[in-house]
Amino acid sequence: LRRKLHNQVMELKGNIRVYCRVRPFLENEKTGNKHKVFRFPDTNIEQRSITHVAEGGLKYDGVTRASNKPSKFVFDRVFTPREKQEEVYNEVGNMVQSAADGYRVCIFAYGQTGSGKTHTMHGPLHGDDRGIIPRAASHIFEYCEKLETQGWTFSVSVSMVEIYNEKLRDLLTPNSKAPLEFHRHLKPADGEEADTVVDGLSEHTVTNAGEILKLLRKAGQIRQTAATHCNAQSSRSHTVFSMKINGFDSKEGKRRVGKLNLV
Ligand code: ADP
Ligand code: MG
Repeated sequence: LRRKLHNQVMELKGNIRVYCRVRPFLENEKTGNKHKVFRFPDTNIEQRSITHVAEGGLKYDGVTRASNKPSKFVFDRVFTPREKQEEVYNEVGNMVQSAADGYRVCIFAYGQTGSGKTHTMHGPLHGDDRGIIPRAASHIFEYCEKLETQGWTFSVSVSMVEIYNEKLRDLLTPNSKAPLEFHRHLKPADGEEADTVVDGLSEHTVTNAGEILKLLRKAGQIRQTAATHCNAQSSRSHTVFSMKINGFDSKEGKRRVGKLNLV
């Protein structure tokens, strides 16, 4: 019942949600930026609007604007520069829980280079600034432990792939010789739905959040090494972190497989 109700709330909030996050000015951007580019007209109410304040003659979206009419945009929620990682996670964390409930969940950060995608999704692995991935790692295990007291057993595995110029690279098994390829998996195992998978990608079974952090550290090193060779940290590099949560309810003999993709 809890799973069903949680899913209903998720559906009511919308199965596809678009958030906007504006990062603060960085130290080196502060000078000369006295002019406020964005305003947040409903910060204390709904937190859904953002206004782009264009001055006359300012170039915006490739078009030079003659007027200084502000443009208003509405999202499912807007995070202002003041809102911290914790507030972002409070909003998206319940989708992570759905993955443990057997649903497929994807959180995708999109934006130009330097806009804060890596900070939001990854961030440092410890401390208040840690991002969605390390927070999701502990969250999933806390949640699974709770369900285990009710007769569930779980196995969790993770994989991480980098897509760079259409090429796939396994970030957890650096020297794997297997060519990686996208594959539409039509005959999935018991309890799984048809899915798009990467053939040849290593999957690592993990039993606690610490093990995930260790793998993330390793992936970071692999990206670093590669970066010196081919500029992998450029805007053409994308990372997909996937967590597969395989749950078995011993009381009802039911299996549920959920997946969380953090892009
Ligand atoms: P992207 O991955 O989109 O290219 P980054 O996440 O690397 O961008 O962010 C660019 C810089 O801005 C980094 O130095 C990062 O630490 C900083 N930054 C991004 N978002 C925030 C934020 N919400 N608060 C503080 N610093 C941020
Ligand atoms: Mg980045």
